[in-house]
Amino acid sequence: MRTDLVIERPGLIGQGLFARVPIASGVVIGCLTPGRPVALPIDSRGEVDYGPWASAQTIDLLLQPDALYCLVKDFGPSGPHGADLINHSCTPNCEVVARLLVRTARAIAAGEELYIDYLASQLTIYKEGIPCLCRPNCPTVI
Ligand SMILES: [Zn+2]
Repeated sequence: MRTDLVIERPGLIGQGLFARVPIASGVVIGCLTPGRPVALPIDSRGEVDYGPWASAQTIDLLLQPDALYCLVKDFGPSGPHGADLINHSCTPNCEVVARLLVRTARAIAAGEELYIDYLASQLTIYKEGIPCLCRPNCPTVI
């Protein structure tokens, strides 16, 4: 991660990434952790059974009628750092390219929190029912 450009600190949800200095558009900030490929079964109610990975970060790859194929990240006891801390917003200032790289999508001011759109970037294909907090009464569920 570009620690010369961004810093980790409390954000919209939990920890987030913030611009340390002004950052131009098109700058690669860091790389998401790819994780281990798993097929998570879909139960009789049509919901994904995350099993032991209920609290893990995932990158969804493909949603099928019988399973969600995804990459499960194992950060260990220290938890995620770097680009994996970037929060969701429906009006993001960063984008995911090549499925893993986080790049600024516009110029970002120093102190501004960095966001990507989890849905548009396809990190989340199966919606877990988490309400978006990007603005009051945002109707988006991720
Ligand atoms: Zn939103």
